[in-house]
Amino acid sequence: MQIDKTKPVLVTGGNGYIASWIVKYLLADGVDVHATVREPNNTAKTGHLLKAAEGTRGKLTLFKADLLKDGAFDAAMQGCELVIHTASPFVIKGLKDAQKELVDPAVMGTRNVLDAANRVASVKRVVLTASVVSVYGDAQDMHTQGLKAFTEAQWNTTSSVSHQPYNYSKVAAEKVGWDIVKQQTRWDFITINPGLVLGPSLTTASDSTSLSTIKELADGTLQTGVPNMEIAIVDVRDAARAHILAGFTAEASGRHLAVSESVTMWQLVQTLKARFGSGYRWPKMVAPKLVVWLMAPMAGYSRRFAARNVGWPLRFDCSYIQKDLGLKFRPVAETVGDHFQQMLDDGVLKPR
Ligand code: NAP
Repeated sequence: MQIDKTKPVLVTGGNGYIASWIVKYLLADGVDVHATVREPNNTAKTGHLLKAAEGTRGKLTLFKADLLKDGAFDAAMQGCELVIHTASPFVIKGLKDAQKELVDPAVMGTRNVLDAANRVASVKRVVLTASVVSVYGDAQDMHTQGLKAFTEAQWNTTSSVSHQPYNYSKVAAEKVGWDIVKQQTRWDFITINPGLVLGPSLTTASDSTSLSTIKELADGTLQTGVPNMEIAIVDVRDAARAHILAGFTAEASGRHLAVSESVTMWQLVQTLKARFGSGYRWPKMVAPKLVVWLMAPMAGYSRRFAARNVGWPLRFDCSYIQKDLGLKFRPVAETVGDHFQQMLDDGVLKPR
C-alpha cells in the first residue's frame, strides 16, 4: 500500500514516550502530524511536542481523544492515509483493577480506533504499537514451547487479567486488530512488536514503565539485589523509526518483533556503572531466585511471575524487521547510556 507523505499522519497518544519520537521524526521529515492526546491544553504533557514542531516543515495539530470514548478519533483521522496507533497504558505495578486500567483501554481503544478507520475513507494503512508480550507471556514459555528464540509465528497464550495483565492487554488488543482488518480491504494493518523500549525520553511526564526501569537501577530501589532476569531491549529511536518505516514502506506487511539485544539486569547495571561511575545506589548483587520469589509480593509482583520469569532465558529472532523494513538496531550500551544521561540532564536522577 503506497502512502502519500503529503497527507497528515495520525499518531494516537502522541505525547507518550515512544510516540513523541515518532511525532518528532515525522515533523522533521516534513510530514504533517495529527496527534491525539487526552489533555491538549496541559503544556506539561504537550510542551515537548510543540517544541519538536518548532522550525520543522511538518505541521503539528493536537486533537483531544480518549480511547474509551466512542467516535473520539474520527475528527483527528480526517484526511489521513496513515494511522499510527500507539495509545495504551504501559503500567505494570500498583494496579488496582487491571481490567479497567489496562485491558479496556488497550482492547476497546484499538477497536475504537479501527472502527474510525472503517468510517474515514482516506485511511489506507494502520500501524499498531503491539509488543513482544503479544508473542509470549512469561520467559518460561520459550522453554515450554521448545524454542531457541520467539518469532512472529508465536502468540501469547499464558497471560490473563490475573496473571501478567499488561501482557494480556497487548495480545488481546493485537488480536482485535487482526480480526477487524480481515473484514474489509481498503486499509491494511501492520504491527511493530517492540521489546522493552529504553533510550532518551523527550518528556518527563510519561507514566511509561520504561522510564522507571532505568531510574530504579540507580536510585536504590534495587540496591539489595536484582533478579536474574533477561530483558529484551530496543532503543526508543529505533522503535519510533520502525513505525515510520512500516507506515511508508509500500510492500511492508505483518508483525515485526523489534529487539536489539537480550541482556540480564546485572549486565545492564555493569554497563551503566562502567560509564557513569560508582556515585549511584546500584544493585549490589544478583539476588538468588528463592529470595526473589519470597520477596516478590513486597516488590509489587506475584510469586508466579517470579517463578516463571526469573532464571529463564528470553530471546527473540528479529531478522524479519531487518529484512522487511531495513531497520538497523543501536547497541544496548548506547541506548541505556543515552537514557541515563537524559535523566541526569533533566534532573530526574541525581548522584547520591
Ligand atoms: P506512555 O508514555 O505511557 O504512552 C502511553 C500513551 O497512551 C500516552 O499518550 C497516554 O496518554 C495514552 N493513553 C493511556 N490511556 C489512554 C486513554 N484511556 N485514552 C487515550 N490515551 C491514553 O507509554 P509508552 O511506553 O510510550 O507506550 C506506548 C505504546 O507502546 C503502548 O501501546 C505500549 O503498550 C507500547 N509498548 C511500549 C513498550 C515500552 O517498553 N515502553 C514496549 C512495547 C510496547 P496520557 O499521557 O494522557 O496518559
